[in-house]
Amino acid sequence: MKEIELLLNESDNWIKGIPAAPGIFTGKFHLFVKEEVHIEEQEITDVEEALRSFNDAIERSKYELSKIFALAKEKMGEKRAEIFEAQIMILEDPIVLDEIRTRIRKERRDPAVIVAEEFDKFIVMLKRSDDIYFKERAFDIEDIKNRILRNISRKRWVSRIENDVAVAGVNLTAADTILFSRCNVRGYITEEGGLTSHAAIIARSLNIPAVLGAHSLIERLNEDCCEIIIDGYNGFIIFDPDSRQKQFYDNKAHILEKVNSELAGLKDISSSTIDGVKISLLANIDVTDELLIAEANGAEGIGLYRTEQIIEETGEFPDENFQTRLYFDITEKSYPKNVTIRVFDLGGDKTRLFHKTEYNPFLGLRGIRFLLSNKELFKGQIRSLLKASFNNNLNILLPMISAFEEIEETKQLIKECEEELGLTHRKYKLGIMIEVPSAADLIPCLGDEVDFLSVGTNDLIQYSLAVDRANDEVAYLYQEFNPSFLRVLKRIADNAAEASLPLSLCGEMGADPRAIPLLLGLGYRFLSASPSGIPLMKKIILSVKISDCEILAQDALACKSTAAVETLVDKFFIDHGITIPKDFV
Ligand code: PEP
Ligand code: MG
Repeated sequence: MKEIELLLNESDNWIKGIPAAPGIFTGKFHLFVKEEVHIEEQEITDVEEALRSFNDAIERSKYELSKIFALAKEKMGEKRAEIFEAQIMILEDPIVLDEIRTRIRKERRDPAVIVAEEFDKFIVMLKRSDDIYFKERAFDIEDIKNRILRNISRKRWVSRIENDVAVAGVNLTAADTILFSRCNVRGYITEEGGLTSHAAIIARSLNIPAVLGAHSLIERLNEDCCEIIIDGYNGFIIFDPDSRQKQFYDNKAHILEKVNSELAGLKDISSSTIDGVKISLLANIDVTDELLIAEANGAEGIGLYRTEQIIEETGEFPDENFQTRLYFDITEKSYPKNVTIRVFDLGGDKTRLFHKTEYNPFLGLRGIRFLLSNKELFKGQIRSLLKASFNNNLNILLPMISAFEEIEETKQLIKECEEELGLTHRKYKLGIMIEVPSAADLIPCLGDEVDFLSVGTNDLIQYSLAVDRANDEVAYLYQEFNPSFLRVLKRIADNAAEASLPLSLCGEMGADPRAIPLLLGLGYRFLSASPSGIPLMKKIILSVKISDCEILAQDALACKSTAAVETLVDKFFIDHGITIPKDFV
C-alpha cells in the first residue's frame, strides 16, 4: 500500500475521485454554484420582437464564445481550443437555428421554451449513449443551451473569482474551466466528469492539478470546510487536513519541486548509461500541440502519435484533407526527427464508431481488425499519410496485429493507395505494434515484411495475463513485473534482434522509472512515453550500467513470482543509490 494510503486510512476527512491532471495543491477553494437558468414562459405578443430577442441572444453567445476561443488558443494551442470553435459552429448551424425560428413563428411561443426543447432533444440522445465520450458531450450542448437562455434573459454570469484558489463544482464545462484559469486557478475538483471530459483535458493542458468525479464533494465542502488538499496524482481530496497530512503533502510538493528543477537541467544531456550505451527517449503524444511539450522535455522524436484521439475529441472521422494537413504539419514541425503515426486504434474501450455491441470488445473488432473491415475509411487515412510522407521522417504503425494476413492485407491497401496517388518511391517506414502474444511469435517471419516493431505493454500485459486493463476488480493481477510477462518481453527483444528489426517500446511501462533498468537489461534501447515522464527516465538511465541491468534482468527472469521481481528491483535501486519520488510518478 502506498505511504499516503496508510496515512489516509487513519482518518475519514477525504474522498477519492478520478486523478485527471497531476499536481498537488493545498489552500482555499471557491465553490462554484452555477446560477440555474429558470424559464418562466412569457406570453408572446410580438413575434418579430421574439425573433429579434432570439437572434440577439445567438449573436451575444457567439461573441462570448469567440472571446473564450481566443483565450483558449492562447493558453492551450490551436488544436485543443477547437472545442470552442465547435460550439460556435453549433450556434451557426442553419438547421438548428431555422427549426427554432420556424417554431417561434408557428407556435408563437417564448423563444426560451423552444430553445430549451430543441437542445434537450440532443442532450437526452447523447446522455443515453453507451459511449462515455458522447455522454460527456451532453454537458457541452447543455452549456450552449444555458448560454443562449441566459442571453435571452439578458443576464450575466460571474467568472471572476479570487486569485490562486481551487475551483470546486458539481460539473465544470470547458468554458468555465478556461475562463477561471484567468484568475490563476490552482486546482479543479468536481463531482461529475471523467478523464475525457473537457475540464480534464484543459486542466492537463494548463498543468493544473484536477480530481474529477468525486462523489459527495459538495456535501463535504459545505461541512464548514476551509482548506483542502488536491492530490492530482492519486485522486485524493482532503478536507481541512490535519497537521500530519499537511506535512506529508508539503514535503511531497517540496520534493517534487526539487526533482522537477533537477530534471529540467537534464534536458540537453544525451541519455546514455554510465557504460556508454545510448538509449533513445521518444514521446507519446495525442495532439499536435504536445510536440512543444515533447521538445521541452528533450524527446528525440515522436514514438507514438495516437490518431484515434482526433476521433475521441471530435466524435467523428476527420476527412482526408484535414488528416493530410495534420500529418504533414506534424512531420514538418518534427523534421529531422522521426514521427511514428499510428493508424486509428478504434474499438476496445476507445471510441466505438459503427461498432455493434460486443460481449468482449477487447477481443473484438479493434485496431487493425476494424480498419480492414472498413477499407474505404482506412484507405482515406493511408492516402493522407502517404501525402504527408514527403519529409522522409514518417513511420506508419499498425495497431493490434495478431496475424500475418493482416499485414499482407494492409500492404496491399497501401499499394493500391500508392497507385491511386501515382507514387513510385516509398518515403515512409512501416511497422507493427506488438501488443498481442501471437504477434510476438510472428517476428521471425517479419524480417522482410516490415521495417520496425513497437511493443505496446498496456495491451500486451492484458492479453498475455488475461487481465482486462480497464477493470478495477482485477487490477491487482495487471502486473508489469510478472515474470511470465517479462519472459514475453525477452522473447520479443531476442526475436527482433534475430530478425534485425528495430524495436521500441511505447506502453506506460517504459515511463515507470522502476521498470527502466529491467527493460534495458532485457535489451530495449528505444523507449517512448508521455513527454512529462522523459526527464525522470533519463535520470535513471544516466545512473545505471547496462551490465548491471542485464544481471538484474537475468535474475528477474528466473523468479517465480511478481513479488520476488519487485524485491529484486527495489534492491537494485537501493544498491545503486537511486531514489525516485515514489507515490507521484
Ligand atoms: C499499448 O497498448 O501499450 C499502447 C501504447 O497502445 P494504447 O495504450 O493506445 O492501447
Ligand atoms: Mg494498445
